[in-house]
Amino acid sequence: MLEDYAKGQPIAYNIIKNAIVKNTVAHAYLFTADNVKEATAFALCFAKSLLCPTNNVDYNNCGNCSICHRINNNNFPELIVIESENLWIKKDELLSLKEELGMKPLEGNKRVYIISEVDKLNAHAANSILKFIEEPEPNIIAILTTSEINKVLPTIVSRCQLVSLRVNNFIDVENAKLENQPNKALIKIGQLYCKRQDDLNNFIGEAKNAEKLDAVVAFIKKYEEVGLDVLLDIKRMWTDYFLEKEEYAWAFDIMILFYKDVLNRIYNKRLEVFDYYNDAVKSVANLNDSDKIIFKLQKIILAKEKIRYNINLNMLMDKLLIEMESRECIC
Ligand SMILES: [Zn+2]
Repeated sequence: MLEDYAKGQPIAYNIIKNAIVKNTVAHAYLFTADNVKEATAFALCFAKSLLCPTNNVDYNNCGNCSICHRINNNNFPELIVIESENLWIKKDELLSLKEELGMKPLEGNKRVYIISEVDKLNAHAANSILKFIEEPEPNIIAILTTSEINKVLPTIVSRCQLVSLRVNNFIDVENAKLENQPNKALIKIGQLYCKRQDDLNNFIGEAKNAEKLDAVVAFIKKYEEVGLDVLLDIKRMWTDYFLEKEEYAWAFDIMILFYKDVLNRIYNKRLEVFDYYNDAVKSVANLNDSDKIIFKLQKIILAKEKIRYNINLNMLMDKLLIEMESRECIC
């Protein structure tokens, strides 16, 4: 039952509970956890709440109706769980996935797919999922799970609502005893990157990380205000903070998450990470429409993929800004 997660996973629990209660369930989620089995178990619990017919009066599944019984006996066709037993998901599952993602629910009014260890999908499977999350069918919900978000195709990450399950005794963001760390965006980002409590504490405690996060947001804001004139300030606003490949990859991830929240703002959806920077998100949203933001996101994702090649990072950044500004084709 979803309620069982209220204490152990308060952030994930609240996100999911609110989505059900307010009827704002997204069409695609990506659950991340240190242990993918935990993420998949949580996904299953969420799916039960969505499919049990009592969820319009309660966000928990009832556990007693015929649908709950059939789900527990693996005998309900509107819940499909795909687990990668080996390194790749099997080819026959993949073919049916592609066909099924386009099919409407036969029983009840919703269909839920849980795809476990989405980081292990091969390119064909990832593309089937991408196509679905770009052009979702109504009443079909995909819940992807992973323990290695950095290995998931960035285009998938950028289009799913992220829900991060903390490891036991993780810092509780909502009831934070973190008077000295008011920047909740930093904590949320830390939770995406750090698998252990110690790592997260170090990440949050490291003053440079907060500075870098501020720097990315300030840089985007400046770029949005002055366009390519930001290149005049690039040393002070960017190069002084980001030098190495890993730092660039991190900064580009932050840019992706930020622009995703701008998109959430444009769509009147709840911000996932950057509520602490609400003013910046708002001002960038006012300067763009959703097409522009999606175009910019595509350019940043492509630039991030190029980091691993032996490329001059200063030139990569210049090129990215010029491309973001070009508004050529959306491809
Ligand atoms: Zn039920």
